[in-house]
Amino acid sequence: MTSINNLKDIVDNGLCIGCGLCQSIAGKKNIEVSMTPKGRLEPKEINKISPEVFNKILNICPGTIVEGLPKEEIASNSENNLVWGYYLSLFYSWSTDKKIRFESSTGGLLNGLSLYLLESKKVQFIMHTDANPEKPMRSVTKFSYNNEELLGNESRSRYGPASPLDRFHETLDLNQAFAFVGKPCDISAIRQLAKIDSRVNKLCKYLLTLVCGGFAEFTKSQDFIESFKVKEDELSIFRYRGYGNPGRMYIKTKDGREHDREYNSFWGEESTWRVPFRCKICPDAIGESADVAALDTWRGGSPKGEDEGFNAAIVRTKKGIDLINSAAKAGFIHIGDKLKIEDIDDFQPHQVNKKKAVYARHLGMAKNNVPTINTKRLRIKELYKLNSEDFNKKEELGVSKRLKKI
Ligand SMILES: Cc1cc2nc3c(=O)[nH]c(=O)nc-3n(C[C@H](O)[C@H](O)[C@H](O)COP(=O)(O)OP(=O)(O)OC[C@H]3O[C@@H](n4cnc5c(N)ncnc54)[C@H](O)[C@@H]3O)c2cc1C
Ligand code: SF4
Ligand code: SF4
Repeated sequence: MTSINNLKDIVDNGLCIGCGLCQSIAGKKNIEVSMTPKGRLEPKEINKISPEVFNKILNICPGTIVEGLPKEEIASNSENNLVWGYYLSLFYSWSTDKKIRFESSTGGLLNGLSLYLLESKKVQFIMHTDANPEKPMRSVTKFSYNNEELLGNESRSRYGPASPLDRFHETLDLNQAFAFVGKPCDISAIRQLAKIDSRVNKLCKYLLTLVCGGFAEFTKSQDFIESFKVKEDELSIFRYRGYGNPGRMYIKTKDGREHDREYNSFWGEESTWRVPFRCKICPDAIGESADVAALDTWRGGSPKGEDEGFNAAIVRTKKGIDLINSAAKAGFIHIGDKLKIEDIDDFQPHQVNKKKAVYARHLGMAKNNVPTINTKRLRIKELYKLNSEDFNKKEELGVSKRLKKI
C-alpha cells in the first residue's frame, strides 16, 4: 500500500477533513488551511516542515489515526455496544432556557451545557465554532467567555467546512481552563494530542460533541444562495438550521432581503449531500472519545415536521455524567426519559449503516493501493465480520468507484 510521506499525501488520498490541527502545530507561516475550488478546507505546506513536525502531525491527524475512548476514561460500570461504543447513560435532554432551546440546532443541549460551564466557572471559556461575522457562510473558531459571545451569533450546526482546531495551540498558550465543543473527528485529534502535550488534559476540561453525518462542501452552500440570486458578499446571516427543530435554512442580506427553505431540501436526498470522502470512511462519527455526545431524535432518522427540540445524550465518561447531573441540578438542562440503544439505532440509521460498512470501505481503499486510517478500539472489524458477504462486497466496490472522484 502507498504510504503517507508528507502532508500532501494525506490530502491527495482523501484523508484530510480540514480540521486545522496541522496548521496549529506547524504555525500558519508553514502550513495554511484554505478553501479550495472544490469547496473544501485543505492545508498546504507554505514552507517545508521538518520530519519531526511531520511525524507529530502524522500521529495526531484524524486523517491518519482515530482511536476509541482512552482506556483510562472507561468506567467500570460502562455498557459497551458493538455499534455505539462505551456509554454510561442514554436519555432525552435539552436546554431549560426556552430561547436557547428554540434557537439552537436541536434542543440546545450543547449550548446549554456550555453556558452552565461558563456561569458555574468550571471553565473560563468555550472553544467552539461560529459563523464568521464578516462572511457568515464561512465558519470560524471562537473562544467565548460569556453568554453573549457564546450565543449572540450562529453557534448552531454549521454544515459547511470548518477548521475547529486551527487555533488549538493558541488556546493552550492562554493557560486557562476551557471546554471544547466540536465534531467527533476534532475530539479524536485532541485525544491524540493529549498523549504528547500534557497541557491538553490539564486545560481542556470537557470534550463535548455532536453525532455527525458529515458536512457539505462549500459549493453546496454557494448553490443555495445563488438559487436566490444572492452573492456571498451580500450576506448578513447564513443559517443551516435552528430557530425551531430542525428549523429552516435561512439567509438574510445586508439590505434586508430574506430567503429560506426547509431543512430537508438541503439534507433530504443522500446522493446530493456533497460530503467529503473522509466522512464516508469515518470510523467514528458518533463521538466515541467525547465526554458527552448529543444527537437528533427523529424516528427513522429524518424530521417529519417541526418540534420543540429534543436531543438525546450519549454520556460516555464519569466526567460527562457529573457534568450532566450538575448542569441539571443548577437548572440549565432538563434530563428527560431514559432511552435504550435500540432507540438510538432508530434515530440514527445512517450511522448504524456507516459503522457497519466502514471496515469494508477501508479494505476497498487498501485493495486500490490507497492508504487508510489507522484505527484502534472502534470495533469496525468485528462489525465487518457480522455483515453478509454481499454487503461487504458492495461497500468495497462502492468505495473503489468513489476513489476516482477524490
Ligand atoms: C457537520 C454536522 C453533521 C451532523 N450530523 C448529524 C447526524 O448525523 N446526526 C444527528 O443527530 N445530528 C447531526 N448533526 C446535528 C447535531 O447533532 C445537533 O446539532 C446535535 O443534536 C446537537 O444539538 P444541540 O441543539 O445540542 O446543539 P447546539 O446547542 O446548537 O450546539 C451546537 C454546537 O456545535 C458546534 N458546531 C456546529 N457546527 C460545527 C462544526 N461544523 N464543527 C465543529 N463544531 C460545530 C457549535 O459551535 C455549538 O457549540 C450534525 C451537525 C453538524 C454540524
Ligand atoms: S491535521 Fe486536520 S487539516 Fe491537517 S491534514 Fe490532518 S485532517 Fe487535514
Ligand atoms: S463524518 Fe467523521 S470525518 Fe466527517 S465531519 Fe463527521 S466526524 Fe468528521
